[in-house]
Amino acid sequence: MHREGMNPDDVQPEDILCDFCGDPAWSAGTACIEGHQGSLICGSCLTIAYRSLVLERQDLPSAPCRLCLETRDDPAWKGICVEGSACRRCIKQAAGALHKSKDWDWVKPLDS
Ligand SMILES: [Zn+2]
Ligand SMILES: [Zn+2]
Repeated sequence: MHREGMNPDDVQPEDILCDFCGDPAWSAGTACIEGHQGSLICGSCLTIAYRSLVLERQDLPSAPCRLCLETRDDPAWKGICVEGSACRRCIKQAAGALHKSKDWDWVKPLDS
């Protein structure tokens, strides 16, 4: 998401925040991946969400997803400190993409 009050004609890296924890992941150089309409999930949120939704298969209620902008039947992970949820499909896709990305050394969390 974009920082409140930023200039849309002059977007700075620090204006781009993780939708789920509010960290300026982009300017901090943290692994992160984009969703629709400028939404962003950072690697640490993705790790937590992947654990909850994919590994532990927690039975979470569905919610409008910030990343695909849909409300699906999938369980949705609720962000840490910001209003926003991510559906299981998006988390799986994002984890797959970030895992493969050569720009980051983020790896999918393993079943423990
Ligand atoms: Zn985050
Ligand atoms: Zn989604």
